Formats: sequence, structure tokens, C-alpha cells
Amino acid sequence: MSYAKALRCRKCGQEYPLEPRNMCDVCLGRIDVTYDYEAMKKTVSKDNLCAQPVSMWRYRDLLPVDSKEVDIGTGYTPLTKADNLGKELGLKNLYVKNDCLNPTYSFKDRAVSVAVTKALEFGFDTVACASTGNLAASVAAHAAKANLKSYVFIPSNLGSGKMVGAAIHKPNLVTVNGSYDDVNRLCINLSQKYNWGFININLRPYYAEGSKTLGHEIGEQLGWQAPDCVIAPAGSGLMFTRIWKGLNELAILGLIDPVKTRMYVSQAAGSSPIVNAYNNDSKHINPVTPDTIAKSIAIGNPSDGEYAVKIAKESGGGAWAVSDKEALTGIKLLAQTEGIFAEATGGVVIAVLKKLVAAGKIKPDDLTVAVITGAGPRTQDIMADVVHATLVEPTVESFDSAFDK
Ligand SMILES: *Cc1c(COP(=O)(O)O)cnc(C)c1O
Ligand SMILES: [Zn+2]
Repeated sequence: MSYAKALRCRKCGQEYPLEPRNMCDVCLGRIDVTYDYEAMKKTVSKDNLCAQPVSMWRYRDLLPVDSKEVDIGTGYTPLTKADNLGKELGLKNLYVKNDCLNPTYSFKDRAVSVAVTKALEFGFDTVACASTGNLAASVAAHAAKANLKSYVFIPSNLGSGKMVGAAIHKPNLVTVNGSYDDVNRLCINLSQKYNWGFININLRPYYAEGSKTLGHEIGEQLGWQAPDCVIAPAGSGLMFTRIWKGLNELAILGLIDPVKTRMYVSQAAGSSPIVNAYNNDSKHINPVTPDTIAKSIAIGNPSDGEYAVKIAKESGGGAWAVSDKEALTGIKLLAQTEGIFAEATGGVVIAVLKKLVAAGKIKPDDLTVAVITGAGPRTQDIMADVVHATLVEPTVESFDSAFDK
């Protein structure tokens, strides 16, 4: 059995059993999983962890699952020392957490692996999700592995790379004539009619927990310490909050010192409701209509936005937005210094990092982690301008005359 105890409302504290649940009945607040950390402490140690699988499931004791996991090979992705990029930006201790290297090319596999495991535990025969693209691929892949039926809902304006990434696993692929926020609203309505496991609705508390492993891995891979700064993207804001929770759990378990990490939210200027709320010192999120190439984080009404703002504030971090143009430059900078081809969301993170350094918010010696959450090859259409090839005949002479070496 896991150490998960209950679901608890983040706002009013009302507790519920570990069941499929989207929000609090009393106050409509968001729901989190709570744990018996005292009991967990007795089993989890650095030595025990070293003997665990080299995947996100090495942190099974910190996750709310009771059965064998649905795992397609997710997690324990590289934390790469980014010396070239660091030199470019003026940082001596920069690391990139490369979550492009998950089975469906984004961190979503962490969240979905836990949520689909719970879907089986709860006895659902069908899983579904509202997606900006990456979640659809991950849910379809895990449903294939778990022999579950799946319905994945995406906005109809996504690029073909993301469509193929989901369709290849043969889900029921539903394109919705509207924005992600419309897709999400449709799925909330459908979740009241169909007894399915909606990954980011009634399974959301469990989905959220999977993302914590990003925080766990960062702490472990830094040699059991929390970084000074984390820069991570936010769409709904959920993953950002879970990196924080993951790091703090390591401290609760005594594996690292108390966490002093400054947490920085990054968003695209064309979809930055969380950054706006932070800048206006507002507790409430004003929804926006997204317009950005960073489709994975193009969420105008972020369900965990308020919580993300709170963590950015309380940790002494911040919330920053960059233009699509800056994001494109960020993608190239990361690819051309560290050999990592990220999707636009990663470009946003790198561009925000650059701004933070220029503004003096991050100092040259700060131990800094940029979280790169999704890979570029599925959205290559936005990078078409990088191709400058030289056509030669298949002869040495032709090559020699084409290049001035
Ligand atoms: C979904 C996604 C995000 C945003 O995650 P949230 O939890 O919604 O904030 C960031 N990056 C990538 C690549 C994603 O697919
Ligand atoms: Zn409540």
C-alpha cells in the first residue's frame, strides 16, 4: 500500500477518500493528495533509492499508487551541465533538465503514468483527456500499454506532428473546433455524463503527483541538494507547483536541506495570465485568449494559476513572459550550444532565463536549473527558417568548389 492518506482541498481543508475527484464539493477548491510522511520516512532513504529502477518509478514510495505501475519507460531523464549555454548567458552553474527524453517526448509521461495506473485501480475501462497536444500523445500511448480505450480531445488548429504523435497509438482522436479552453470545458461537461477516467479532470490529483518526480530527480541528480533557482514553463501551472512539492518532499524526508529555491514561472507573452496576475499582485487570474506558437502552454484560463503565483511569490522567485520571437531565438540558442532541440515551450524557458540574468535576478554563481519539458521535432514547422543546405554533385570537386574552407 502507498503512503497516500487522503485527498484534501487546498482552500478549505475538507478531506475526501482517495477516489476520482476533480474539486472540493464545499468550496470548488483544487484537491491535493496528502501523505503519511512519518511512515514514509521509515522506508525512504538515499541508500534504498539507489537500489530502485532508473525511471520515475524509483520514487514509487512518494506516489499515490497501490498497484503495479503502467510504465512505458518514463523519467530519470538527464540533468545536463550546460556549460556552453551558461557561458553564453554568464552563468557558471547552469543545468538543463532534459525531459524531451521521455517516451512520448514530454514530461507529460510522468503525470500520465501515475494517472493511468490509478485509472486501472479505479476500474475505468476508458481514459480521456483535454490536451494542447502532448498530453494526447501520452494518454494514447499509456492507454495502448494498459489495454484501455481512450478518447483524446485537442484543438483543431494543432500542427500535423502533434496529431500523428497521438494518432499513432490509435486512440479515438477528437479535434474540437475551438481553443484549448473550449476543449477543456467540453471535457468537463462530458465527465459529468460518462464514467471514464478523465486524466486531467477526475484523475487530476493523481496526474499532478506524477510531475513531482521532476523535483525529486533534480534534487537527487544535483547530489542531494535543491538548486538556487528553477526556471520552468507554465500552462495550467500545475507542473510548476509540483516541481516545488517534489523538492520540498525531499526535505521533509530529510534527504536534502530545507528548500530555498527561487521558482520562476515562464510563459509566452501571447498567453501569460499567470505572469499578469503575478505582476498585478492579484490573487485571481484574469483569463486571456491565447495567441502564441508555444501551443503546449497556450492556456488562457489556467486551473492552477493562482497556486503557481503563490509559489513564485513565496519562494522569492518570479513570473516572466517573452515574445514568440524571443522563444524562437531561445530554441536555437539551446540547440546550438547544448545540442538539445526543444519545442517552443523550451525556447520560452531559455529566453526567460536570459532575461533573468540580464535583470540581475540570477547571479553568475547561482545553481540554476532550466526545465525543458518537451522536444522540438514534432513541431519543426516553426523552425523551417534554419534550413540553409548547400547542394553539391556527388564528386569531391563539386564539394571543394562549393565550400571555402
Ligand atoms: C503541458 C505542458 C506544459 C505545461 O504544463 P502545465 O502543468 O499545464 O503548466 C509545459 N511544457 C510542455 C512541453 C507541456 O506539454
Ligand atoms: Zn474546499
